[in-house]
Amino acid sequence: PLVYLNGELTPLSEAKIPVLDRGFIFGDGVYEVIPVYNRKMFRAKQHMARLFRSLDAIRIPNPHTEEEWMALIDKVTSAHPADTQLVYMQVTRGVAKRAHAFPADATPTVFIMTNAFTPPDAATVDNGVRCVTTDDLRWQRCDIKSISLLGNVLAAQYAAENDALEAIQFRDGLLTEGGSSNIWIVSNGAVYGPPKSTLILEGIRYGLLEELCAACNIPFGSRAITRDEVFAADEVLMTSAGREVLAVTVIDGKQIGTGKSGPVFRKLYAAYQDAKRA
Ligand code: PLP
Repeated sequence: PLVYLNGELTPLSEAKIPVLDRGFIFGDGVYEVIPVYNRKMFRAKQHMARLFRSLDAIRIPNPHTEEEWMALIDKVTSAHPADTQLVYMQVTRGVAKRAHAFPADATPTVFIMTNAFTPPDAATVDNGVRCVTTDDLRWQRCDIKSISLLGNVLAAQYAAENDALEAIQFRDGLLTEGGSSNIWIVSNGAVYGPPKSTLILEGIRYGLLEELCAACNIPFGSRAITRDEVFAADEVLMTSAGREVLAVTVIDGKQIGTGKSGPVFRKLYAAYQDAKRA
């Protein structure tokens, strides 16, 4: 597959960055993951806006206009044979002598790759997925889509070692999010998520789920959610670019609701499938 690196399309195996890149040395960069369905980016504008917010937040000068970004992504996705893809893009502060504070004259490193994407299969959608819970060990700016992902990596590994798809994180007893997803509860027919704050990444599916709820006449709200409320929920949902929307049916070995994917999930899943085909 061809990838984009600093102005050139090259085979992945030939794409190389200097060891002093601040992404490698400090995790000093941000990223995005954008789904492409039938060769069309889904929610491209929202993903671009979030990339720009992340760059702003860590004060990396945005190397491209939105139009340029879209054209670059288009080059990479057009070169891939699959119609449905997940695009990964990353910007680091660039290459400089190792010192923590920003270098005076680094040029941001821009990398874009894409892979064929298979959305969750029918069995996963029907049965729902198992999760485990863990303390949220991350920093206080989880709203930035930073490539420094150690907390998320440890959460994902904990899930993997416990036969779970995802680790659901709690900070001071309150739900934050999954290691790489947003988590929602369904209570009395309404969907609730934790409030947008610096303690969670606002998934592009945060706004989308709100829209889908409105279209399906499902009440939607955001509020602090305790651990007990998660376990007592009628349904628990997970959203992310790669998982779309999934039902969480078992957490820490305990069944959620009926233990099967529920009616609110099924409505929102169908609405999501319609939205991505629109
Ligand atoms: N929260 C975290 C920590 C993530 O890494 C992700 C990314 O998938 C999400 C939430 C969901 O965001 P999105 O819906 O944009 O994929």
